[in-house]
Amino acid sequence: MIDEFLKNHGEYYNDKYFKDMTSLKMGGHICHYVVPNTINDVKEIIAYLKTNHIPFKVMGNGSNLVCGSSEFSGVILSLKNLNNYEINNTEIYAEAGVLVMGLCQHLAKEGLSGMEFASGIPGNVGGLVYMNAGAYRRSMSDVVKSVLVLKDNELVWLDNKECNFTYRHSIFGDHPHWVILAAKLQLEHKPSEEIYALMRDRLERRKTSQPLDKPSAGSCFRNPDNGFAWELIDGIGYRGYKIGNVCVSNKHSNFIINDGDGCAEDYLKIAYEIIDKVKNKYGIKLIFEVEKFNC
Ligand SMILES: Cc1cc2nc3c(=O)[nH]c(=O)nc-3n(C[C@H](O)[C@H](O)[C@H](O)COP(=O)(O)OP(=O)(O)OC[C@H]3O[C@@H](n4cnc5c(N)ncnc54)[C@H](O)[C@@H]3O)c2cc1C
Repeated sequence: MIDEFLKNHGEYYNDKYFKDMTSLKMGGHICHYVVPNTINDVKEIIAYLKTNHIPFKVMGNGSNLVCGSSEFSGVILSLKNLNNYEINNTEIYAEAGVLVMGLCQHLAKEGLSGMEFASGIPGNVGGLVYMNAGAYRRSMSDVVKSVLVLKDNELVWLDNKECNFTYRHSIFGDHPHWVILAAKLQLEHKPSEEIYALMRDRLERRKTSQPLDKPSAGSCFRNPDNGFAWELIDGIGYRGYKIGNVCVSNKHSNFIINDGDGCAEDYLKIAYEIIDKVKNKYGIKLIFEVEKFNC
């Protein structure tokens, strides 16, 4: 019944696993995985799922998620087929499924500046807007002009202020059933060489400081006020600490990596040990930057 409905609204699969859909490469079976083809398909699917009280989650590129090993009986929606974008002078309209790394390369070629900070972030537009992704003191809130959202079965444009952006958070985090469909970004003209130079610099910094050759979900914890999570993790001696096939990276101790066939349960054991020890030693409560799902 549900599979028939989903098949009529996009590509449908019942044999996907979170471990194949996330950058951390962990997680169990997804009973229903659908890739809608149009915004209208998304609208009809969400209405159906809500009416029938079927649990669902929209997934971006899966680069911020720690997914548990048990089966998810609900529906995962991937917006990767909503992947068009248009450039109108300095304004970009980008659908939620556009991969940001590719977009940044094109913007650099077109001499459009503002998204350089995001050129090494492996998510898509919807995912970056959702968590106000950022790096090098810049974040999506600096470039987002407005966001097209499916909110209570209505398509609504929210302007930047209405998105309530704060550090790694937005209004969308408070409304898990809203779906980000597209965003308008405001950029500025600059010579392409300048943009490419900044992007190269940022990428070099990532390559030297982050374990990009190992599966991860990026930084495990947000940085606390006036400090860095990695310093606190080093302070409790957890650099390189391992449980099963999950380990705190030797290269960057705020990255917890999958060092084989690791599972979310071991990831979280390490993370909660870190939270406890950092709290005891420094009186600081670390907050997850990664998102736990189905665990
Ligand atoms: C090597 C590496 C480096 C990283 N570096 C950075 C960094 O420098 N800065 C940074 O901020 N992050 C970084 N990250 C983390 C991650 O890439 C970002 O958080 C990114 O924004 C997640 O986007 P995504 O599309 O993968 O979202 P996902 O991980 O798929 O989803 C994250 C959340 O967004 C929600 N979501 C996604 N799309 C939509 C939508 N269309 N509508 C509604 N909700 C949606 C999901 O439901 C989920 O709750 C890094 C990750 C890795 C693996």
